[in-house]
Amino acid sequence: DELDVDKIWMDGELVDWDEAQIHVLSHVVHYGSGVFEGVRCYDTVDGPAVFRHREHYERLADSAKALGIGMEYTVGELVEATRELIRENELDSCYIRPIVFYGYDELGLNPKGCPVRTAIAVWPWGAYLGEDAINNGVDVAVSSWRKHHSSQIPTTAKITGAYVNSIMASLEAKSNGYTEAILLDKEGSVSEGPGENVFMVNDGTLYTTPVDSSILDGITRQCVMDVAEDLGYEVVEKRISRSELYTADELFFTGTAAEVTPIRSVDDRQVREDGRGPVTKEIQETFFEITEGRRDGYTDWLDYV
Ligand code: PMP
Repeated sequence: DELDVDKIWMDGELVDWDEAQIHVLSHVVHYGSGVFEGVRCYDTVDGPAVFRHREHYERLADSAKALGIGMEYTVGELVEATRELIRENELDSCYIRPIVFYGYDELGLNPKGCPVRTAIAVWPWGAYLGEDAINNGVDVAVSSWRKHHSSQIPTTAKITGAYVNSIMASLEAKSNGYTEAILLDKEGSVSEGPGENVFMVNDGTLYTTPVDSSILDGITRQCVMDVAEDLGYEVVEKRISRSELYTADELFFTGTAAEVTPIRSVDDRQVREDGRGPVTKEIQETFFEITEGRRDGYTDWLDYV
């Protein structure tokens, strides 16, 4: 195939890319009844390594618990399957997409009787918001769509159906000429991007939105908080208002796909003339040193394939 990836892991077996198929009446297709992860494997100086590997599968297990879908495999088994899959496909760096979902049986809302299916796919994937975005930042707009509240759909879980909310916000932003959206929560505070957490820098202090702003508690978010503190910055979790975005010294997104991406403007208000501020740059460079295995003290964040 075009991606030059041979195999997908499905329910305990390596199957050919083109054979990794499901029935059109699978429960997940109709109701979004699945949980998933996004993980990255980096080409480090010591070979391919999966970043925060176990943490991602632990979050997958937590997401499954929130949805009430029983995992067929343990975290340890899925970690091992992923390593095997990367080796089998001979990839140095890749994106990893594990998914656990209700398959095909009777098509009522109640998933009872539907088999739980598990799959892991890997493929090469560069910078999510573009290579230019990493250096020069992205233009974003606050969405007219609100982030769903955690009392409506769990937000700390990555549930497939919930991502329609992200899709609405992304499509709106793109059709209005922006690269990405920022969603406000039900109360009107900043929540997060469609697939990214948000950080703000003011007078050398980092701020990020708290879990009670209906965010996904991102693994990159946690890493950036740790890294920033190790670099000597104070990091504060606090509610952020829309207008605070307009006057921030610096803003950036974090996420497995987006990594650390500077935000250059919000609602056509320029955050920075230079695109990427100095604190963002330092955090970003440190983050890439870590993912590339070039920084001491963080090697336990890497699981060598
Ligand atoms: N928020 C949402 C809604 C996401 O989908 C993601 C991507 N998983 C993130 C934040 C960032 O989380 P992480 O750093 O764990 O990838």
